[in-house]
Amino acid sequence: MAWDFHTDPDFQKEIDWIDEFVREEVEPLEYVLGSPVDLKQPRFEELVRPLQARVKERGLWACHLGPELGGKGYGQVKLALMNEQFGRTRFGPVVFGAQAPDTGNSEILAHYGTAEQKERYLQPLLDNKIVSCFSMTEPQGGADPTQFRTTAIADGDEWVINGEKWFSSNAKYASFFITMAVTDPDAAPHQRMSMFIVPAETPGIEILHNLGFHGEADHNHAHMRYDNVRIPRQNMLGAPGQAFVVAQTRLGGGRMHHAMRTVAQAQKCFDLMCERALSRTTKGERLGDKQLVQQMISDTWIQLRQFRLLVLETAWLIDHHNDYLKVRKNISAVKATMPKVLHDVASAALQVHGALGISTEMPFTDLIINSYHVGLADGPTEVHKITVARQLLREYEAGDEIFPRGYRPKLRDMARQRYGALRAG
Ligand SMILES: Cc1cc2nc3c(=O)[nH]c(=O)nc-3n(C[C@H](O)[C@H](O)[C@H](O)COP(=O)(O)OP(=O)(O)OC[C@H]3O[C@@H](n4cnc5c(N)ncnc54)[C@H](O)[C@@H]3O)c2cc1C
Repeated sequence: MAWDFHTDPDFQKEIDWIDEFVREEVEPLEYVLGSPVDLKQPRFEELVRPLQARVKERGLWACHLGPELGGKGYGQVKLALMNEQFGRTRFGPVVFGAQAPDTGNSEILAHYGTAEQKERYLQPLLDNKIVSCFSMTEPQGGADPTQFRTTAIADGDEWVINGEKWFSSNAKYASFFITMAVTDPDAAPHQRMSMFIVPAETPGIEILHNLGFHGEADHNHAHMRYDNVRIPRQNMLGAPGQAFVVAQTRLGGGRMHHAMRTVAQAQKCFDLMCERALSRTTKGERLGDKQLVQQMISDTWIQLRQFRLLVLETAWLIDHHNDYLKVRKNISAVKATMPKVLHDVASAALQVHGALGISTEMPFTDLIINSYHVGLADGPTEVHKITVARQLLREYEAGDEIFPRGYRPKLRDMARQRYGALRAG
């Protein structure tokens, strides 16, 4: 197997273009616009659409998609390198046609939608003419989907949905929801639920209130109620009872894209920290000349570099196997590592900036909170660590003797039997 860590020179040119384009044109948007998913806000058309057009012209639009859906089919490694650039800023994903949860929802529609559903929802979603919402978590239990209570009951040609969902991000802007509901309460826990497309205009959908978290200008995570919401029978995505299988279509890619953007955000903090360490002096020397500051710089660089390698290796494995499930352990490892890396790098950068670092005039406190966001959304860190450990243990077998395989007296006896005793003791 060949080991090669360099980026193809032609693709590197694209990365350099993205770097400059994002710095010059995209990063300023977050200071003049609101939420990147609010397509109707003033000046969105004027400021965002021309940038999207330039990305399309350059052939870099919606690169997570295969060629059959108008994307480049670049694969995860190239996506990682791109996300490292445009993930630095809130508007990067929307300018490059790669914002969550629309990316994952488009993957679901591409796999499970009918021709009519694709025309009605997928194409406008891919063109960023509409946005969507993934409505799965419920107030009484998120990490354990077997606790979900929202039901969908067949009635003639329709499904009737009743229940409450929680943290349905972008609900207030969405044209449709991909909603998970119990269709067969008596089936095995992971076969009880099915997935549905629910058009936002369907009567009975109510946003009870929108939650936000520190640092978010726009409160955008809906607590919502589905009250006798009637949708056509054909709005089920996948087979009855297959909600978990359908959800997997989006979760693998979604988690990786978050990780790629986390590298970008942590790198941004790291760069700011180094610049500050060279710019500020105290007691006659630069902060960067002080060993404890140097320790923060070296520790966080090592942490970030290790994480980036894990992300890239996992991306490479996904490309290699072309199957998220085969790389589940690695994706969960990425997911479980990402909050701590972002937290630690942003915290070190905050500390080196002193009082300014903790203020809202620098991005660090937002990114520290964001580290908790990435440690919860798409499943808490603990659950992913459990997945890593369980998958790893499947690669091993229990020993059948009282002393473990590494027991040195036994190994020594075996070695001596094979090679004879070469030394005493
Ligand atoms: C910013 C943000 C956006 C989100 N967007 C969406 C969205 O668009 N759509 C959607 O459906 N959901 C969304 N979510 C919800 C997210 O998926 C859930 O928060 C997550 O699955 C955890 O569920 P919970 O919050 O109910 O926590 P709980 O399930 O109550 O878990 C709380 C804590 O308990 C611990 N814990 C849980 N299970 C275990 C375990 N097995 N072993 C050990 N410890 C455990 C962990 O510390 C965990 O953080 C979003 C969340 C956030 C923070």
